[in-house]
Amino acid sequence: MRRPLVAGNWKMHGSRQSVDALLNGLVEQEWPEGVELMIAPPALYIDRCVGRLQGSPLSVGGQTCATQAEPGALTGEISPAQLRDAGCGYVLVGHSERRTLFGESDAVVCKKFAAALACGLRPVLCVGESQAERDAGQTADVVARQLQVILDAFGVGGLAEGVVAYEPVWAIGTGLTASPEQAQDVHAMIRARLAMLDDAQAQDVRIVYGGSVKADNAEALFSMPDIDGGLIGGASLNAEEFGAIARAA
Ligand code: 13P
Repeated sequence: MRRPLVAGNWKMHGSRQSVDALLNGLVEQEWPEGVELMIAPPALYIDRCVGRLQGSPLSVGGQTCATQAEPGALTGEISPAQLRDAGCGYVLVGHSERRTLFGESDAVVCKKFAAALACGLRPVLCVGESQAERDAGQTADVVARQLQVILDAFGVGGLAEGVVAYEPVWAIGTGLTASPEQAQDVHAMIRARLAMLDDAQAQDVRIVYGGSVKADNAEALFSMPDIDGGLIGGASLNAEEFGAIARAA
């Protein structure tokens, strides 16, 4: 059985004051048994979050990382080794905002995935098509291409050490959630593709959904057979709503 993961991506939101308030709200939530929980705050607040969440079931992750684990002259970057050192267990790689706004290619995403694994972090590989790609019937091709670099380098077993997050770009921050059926179709397609390479390991890969997940649509999404939790953006900035989403998993 795959253990569901519900993760919050705070993106570039928060101040010391609002982060402290959110953390206070999070530690007061009732968290479900059997669901893995993670938040990815802005890097500046990781230390604060790790400290405050000690003893709670929530772990902390990075939103991105450098392409190498080794220290180096890379002004402004944060290595996966540093994330691990700061107490992170996870790191997002290939979020669509990184791909589109910061020009991260599949090759760069693969390097980040590799560097994260090398440091003992679980990478959360984000994949997903844009509205134009969906309209052109290219969803399967786009997602397959984004997965393929990782599969070429690490196989299904390597992917299973991390998590796949299917985040259709058109659903991120738009309020346009994929319907449970639309999301399930893509999750099943991803798993079928992995199963062609290694059926046993494909059943172990967690595939979470992201894109306008809210307390009122989470249960329908998470009840689909191949949806193993969620990657939550805006709604993770509200402790009560994030708690409710986690309890729906
Ligand atoms: P929203 O939940 O705000 O749509 O964001 C999803 C996302 O990008 C999570 O990584």
